[in-house]
Amino acid sequence: MTAPIELDDAALRAWPLPQPSQDDDKEARGRVLVIAGSAEVPGAAVLAGEAALRAGAGKLVVGTAATVALLVAQQLPEARVVGLPEDDDGGLREDGVERLDEILAHTASVLVGPGMAAGASTVRFVEALLGRLNGQPVLLDAAAMDVVRQPSETVWPFSQHVGMTPHAGEMAYLTGEDKEGVESDPGERARMAASRWGAAVALKGACTWLAAPDGRLWRHARGNPGLATSGSGDVLAGLVAGLMARGASVEQALAWGVALHARAGERLAARMGPLGFLARELPAEIPALLATLI
Ligand code: AMP
Ligand code: MG
Repeated sequence: MTAPIELDDAALRAWPLPQPSQDDDKEARGRVLVIAGSAEVPGAAVLAGEAALRAGAGKLVVGTAATVALLVAQQLPEARVVGLPEDDDGGLREDGVERLDEILAHTASVLVGPGMAAGASTVRFVEALLGRLNGQPVLLDAAAMDVVRQPSETVWPFSQHVGMTPHAGEMAYLTGEDKEGVESDPGERARMAASRWGAAVALKGACTWLAAPDGRLWRHARGNPGLATSGSGDVLAGLVAGLMARGASVEQALAWGVALHARAGERLAARMGPLGFLARELPAEIPALLATLI
């Protein structure tokens, strides 16, 4: 088995992100569709949506629960916000996916999951969404990842370009193993999951392991404990989706997203103190980081 590649500055610089040309317009830099939030956790849509724009996506469309769409729109004046019908369990109704068809036709990347209610309706919604993609990459986060708990051949191994961002607890839930088992050999667990599901998997933690379905493995160990805070993963997911909208592959967007997220936490910790900075403060750090890392 080959050793993991360390995602340090040199590795990132050797893997440069697609850059816009001087005369590109916002369409050229990609439209990102962020499907996130629920009546109980509307802020996840705001965090992920802002992060996608801070990562350089050209245009943002947010799909969120209809009851909180106005609230989300007020927090994200840059976005087009589409209210989607909710099911009895707080998830989005599967038939609401049809409302996204016209948007999907012009969308470069999709994120689904942050702040969505865990349950059967979310799984059905994500399945329906996967069936309506037109080849664009999609990141599954949080409750949207539950689609892999279905039997094989229903939706996975994926035929789409799929990324996933579980932390150890989520990975344990998705695979049926206990958390200690996942943490005993996280690199191997990420690699097994990636090959089984046919997705690029970033197993998040103080050290994050990123595995591609073809067996490539990366490791990233920067950041700080202050990043373990409410909404932090929603920001990471938005960054990854934004980078995919710019034209990065799922693996490259995950690698860069993880690195940028950790470095944003380091900058906030240095300025404000190691604990107590907020997830919502991370996205504004990204433009300067992107400028120093390219
Ligand atoms: P979530 O649990 O989904 O909100 O995601 C938490 C994010 O914070 C992930 O990107 C983790 O990799 C990151 N994180 C959590 N704890 C640490 C830590 N001790 N050091 C560095 N990053 C961390
Ligand atoms: Mg999360």
